[in-house]
Amino acid sequence: MQTFEIIVQNRTGLHARPAKELVNLAKTFKSNIRIAHGAKQVNAKSLISVLTLGVESGGQVRIEVEGEDEEAAALALQALINAGLGEGVAEEGATAASAPAAPEKPVEKAPAPVVAPATPPVATGELPQRLTRGIPAAPGFGIGPIFRLERAKLTVDETFTSANQERALLQQALEGAKAQLRQLHAQLLGQAVASEAAIFEVHLEILEDPDLLEAVYANIDKQKNAAHAWQTAIETRAKTMAALNDPLLAARAADIHDVGYRVLRLLVGAGTQDAVQLPDHPVIVLAFDLSPSDTASLDTKRVLGFCTAGGGPTAHSSIIARALGFPAVVSAGESIMQIENGMLAILDGAAGTLVIDPDPETLARAREAQQLYQARRIAAQAASAEPAITRDGHRVEIVANIGGVADARKAHAAGAEGVGLLRTEFLFLERTSAPTETEQFEVYRDIAVALAGNPVIVRTLDIGGDKPVPYITMLPEENPFLGERGIRLCLARPELLRQQVRAILRAAPYGKLRIMFPMVADLSEWRAARAIVEELRAELYAPQIELGIMIEVPSAALLANFFAAEVDFFSIGTNDLTQYTLAMDRGHPNLAGKSDGLHPAVLKLIQCTVEAAHAAGKWVGICGELGADPQAVPILIGLGVDELSISIPAIPMVKAQVRDLTLEEARRRAQDALACATAPEVRRKAANA
Ligand code: PEP
Ligand code: MG
Repeated sequence: MQTFEIIVQNRTGLHARPAKELVNLAKTFKSNIRIAHGAKQVNAKSLISVLTLGVESGGQVRIEVEGEDEEAAALALQALINAGLGEGVAEEGATAASAPAAPEKPVEKAPAPVVAPATPPVATGELPQRLTRGIPAAPGFGIGPIFRLERAKLTVDETFTSANQERALLQQALEGAKAQLRQLHAQLLGQAVASEAAIFEVHLEILEDPDLLEAVYANIDKQKNAAHAWQTAIETRAKTMAALNDPLLAARAADIHDVGYRVLRLLVGAGTQDAVQLPDHPVIVLAFDLSPSDTASLDTKRVLGFCTAGGGPTAHSSIIARALGFPAVVSAGESIMQIENGMLAILDGAAGTLVIDPDPETLARAREAQQLYQARRIAAQAASAEPAITRDGHRVEIVANIGGVADARKAHAAGAEGVGLLRTEFLFLERTSAPTETEQFEVYRDIAVALAGNPVIVRTLDIGGDKPVPYITMLPEENPFLGERGIRLCLARPELLRQQVRAILRAAPYGKLRIMFPMVADLSEWRAARAIVEELRAELYAPQIELGIMIEVPSAALLANFFAAEVDFFSIGTNDLTQYTLAMDRGHPNLAGKSDGLHPAVLKLIQCTVEAAHAAGKWVGICGELGADPQAVPILIGLGVDELSISIPAIPMVKAQVRDLTLEEARRRAQDALACATAPEVRRKAANA
């Protein structure tokens, strides 16, 4: 037997990501591998068990390996833990006790959501006594009875047949659950929401957890039926995890409950289709919150839309709602759960409102607006290849945010006039080594070709801090969002940037590629990055290529006049610009309701950027999610933004919205917004414009 003790240096301890790395490596060996922390020892091949150890940063673990490949396993595990379990560490041998502990980001940074705008909201603005305001999360209208969603309690009886029979029933339910999860996974991938699909990979992993299954089989051997055996094993694990009093592990406990409930439904014969039980007529769903799996499981024929007490527009469930086409309002407050089932309501996803028991006149107006919206959606789809030109002849370029070659093809087909943001980090994540220059070249070349000569803005690697990759060793950071992110990271590791730039320059002759640097805060960063491109361009005899920067740090917006003299273009990343202007973590669940890109402070920075760019004859795009927010589109155009880079499904409706505007009207709305003191004030004005 091989035994060793080691310190877990990761700044968040053995949380989901590093624990998964450890478990995945352990699984590749035949030996028995146990990991102990304090008095507790568990199977290192079980993710749930490893998580329940609750190993904090600087915590010591003891690993015991026994079996035919024990030596190799012990060496490999030691090396992986020393290397930071996929997250990198400060320096070999450094103890985590000296490393600052920072909270792991609770919500994965989401790609810009796919908001498709609605017609300007008309139905719900004037009924204060029955009006609930939340945050717009997905556009569209839902008109119908309210249904408060509470998970059905499943009755588990004690009937036991035989161990063999119960094992077979369990196997069948597990297979059924896996099939459902694979379908949900594929459905979300098909809607280009890969980041959200990942949640179902975690659920699938839970269904294969060896310790969990062993516990269930042990319960069956004690003459418990499959449902009972499963429920007990799930609850024990979820409780242990929740008891660790750690918000991140509590989220994992919710995943265990979620997937446990899915299997239990199959075991008690409560249907194979819906994870949530709905009446058999169409309803507007109200819930405290919806898990991604609940949202993805909602039956589009029976759900007219949903409104949640909590949540935010960038939460997983909102992104899924937009991809699946549900109108949705979030962060509406817990009082919505007092609304009686069956009450007639109007949900306006673009305005972020819910009107209960509307009077006949409001109802008639809402129905009219709904019909108009649907007709516009169809017309917008039909005209998606046409340019977006306002009624008074001002053209706005509508381009797409993409993550890879498949997206590039979809974007072109959906009417995108190019790509305003290629998030190249997708090429770098979820792998054990950086993509080679040739691999990158092939991807950039294929994207350039897919866009058939339309411009493609390739954003250089935007990782670091909150998005660690295993093969880039980084010092632990107390505030990853304020640390070595984006261009800062690339300049600190120039070979990474040089390799990427070489790949882009080699692909440049295949289309119209442009390069953009993320997270630029200071002129020196831009100049250093430009110097690298120029040096490599000369070396490769590559064609001249336009270079720009993202404006997502307030300092860059405020000094835009200096940058404008040197860059070819700006693209404003409103997701980060909002985060850094308001000092609110973009993924913080409790701040989601306040972190609004329509905040007048953010709008002033956009105005400052556009004025500086235009004075120097340069153009400005928006590539944050604000660019597809129906209330923001007129304001942004009125501020003078030249290009909107948005998610693919939003393209037809944003184009249609532009065609409905005049530049003059947009300018008036921008001035109105700039005169406001708060984001809700801006939104109220926009809703009533
Ligand atoms: C942004 O910050 O607005 C942006 C588009 O970049 P990302 O969301 O990838 O950080
Ligand atoms: Mg950003």
